[in-house]
Amino acid sequence: MALIVQKFGGTSVGTVERIEQVAEKIKKFREGGDDIVVVVSAMSGETNRLIDLAKQIGDQPVPRELDVLVSTGEQVTIALLAMALMKRNVPAVSYTGNQVRILTDSAHNKARILQIDDHKLRTDLKAGRVVVVAGFQGVDENGNITTLGRGGSDTTGVALAAALKADECQIYTDVDGVYTTDPRVVPQAQRLEKITFEEMLEMASLGSKVLQIRSVEFAGKYNVPLRVLHSFKEGPGTLITIDEEESMEQPIISGIAFNRDEAKLTIRGVPDIPGVAFKILGPISSANVEVDMIVQNVAHDNTTDFTFTVHRNDYQNALQVLENTARELGAREVSGDTKIAKVSIVGVGMRSHAGVASQMFEALAKENINIQMISTSEIKVSVVIEEKYLELAVRALHTAFELDAPATKSE
Ligand code: ADP
Ligand code: ASP
Ligand code: MG
Repeated sequence: MALIVQKFGGTSVGTVERIEQVAEKIKKFREGGDDIVVVVSAMSGETNRLIDLAKQIGDQPVPRELDVLVSTGEQVTIALLAMALMKRNVPAVSYTGNQVRILTDSAHNKARILQIDDHKLRTDLKAGRVVVVAGFQGVDENGNITTLGRGGSDTTGVALAAALKADECQIYTDVDGVYTTDPRVVPQAQRLEKITFEEMLEMASLGSKVLQIRSVEFAGKYNVPLRVLHSFKEGPGTLITIDEEESMEQPIISGIAFNRDEAKLTIRGVPDIPGVAFKILGPISSANVEVDMIVQNVAHDNTTDFTFTVHRNDYQNALQVLENTARELGAREVSGDTKIAKVSIVGVGMRSHAGVASQMFEALAKENINIQMISTSEIKVSVVIEEKYLELAVRALHTAFELDAPATKSE
């Protein structure tokens, strides 16, 4: 008999009918004899609705109160699912994060799980009950409700699976697995049978929101067998694995990730002296703004230009800080651009292949897409381009790296 943690995302519990369908599915699963812990998200759109309510009161909701508010979304779905299970004579019980005692740190709106008390869960499982746990939420040591950041129910699922040493953590969603790229943008995208933790972590970090980054980190760290599946369609889904099979079949690129979440800032004509990068980025970091890509130009006339990207939500804040710095350093000018996008190719196969980056640049050049910034690591290459070319770029790269589904491969 296996112990499985199953997480159902927002669209999968988006209506009462869907919740009934999920209950039906769990009932069938249970008939196979497995123990099941279920994690659910809020109904789709609900978390956004709650955040919007808070913003009607003020632009910057108090983080603690925002957590009290947004955690209610998941409290609704756990109760409804437990009711739907009991209606089908499946013994079930629902718990909030606090009731389980999913202990987190106190970083409201982006808390990290520190410890999970599995006592109640084990007792219920032993008594033959399906345990339904609210995703996305926990409690800090002072009893404050916390939430784990958008998409955090994935992390609840994986963390529970790790704590319970479950045989598998199954993430049920509205796609039947992890694809070579977002199938909503590239219809020719293909489902991957397997992807390594390392690649999945890059894909998630670089914008593929199919799994929350932290859930992948957690699964890698605690070696939790993780699978992404469609909630209502049969199929094997995608297994996230440790092993990198070095086969001839190994594609160089496993997937393409992208995001529109960043903005670019440039400071021109700063003196090219030691410590200047720190003078520019130190205040940005003190303002609690995270920097992603950084480019410093070769100096000319003893001055240089410096460009970096930040999250779009931090753009105004970063711009103000940079304008102050520019005055202090006597820089020539500051400019910014929010209409950028980042496109990244990801694959462990890159390690053993040279020339992947230039193949990427060639494909973009053919489409006349200008590259504004580049960053590389062992298993990824990212470029910043104008946002309006994002979809074109992703499609072109998908074709260039031979990721298109065979039936629709363009000539
Ligand atoms: P849930 O509400 O179930 O958590 P999400 O919306 O968070 O679902 O994640 C599923 C979505 O992720 C898909 O509908 C898809 O559009 C998007 N997505 C982005 N990149 C990928 C990818 N590489 N493979 C599969 N889905 C992806
Ligand atoms: N409901 C939360 C969100 O929308 C958490 C989740 O769905 O994973 O971000
Ligand atoms: Mg999600």
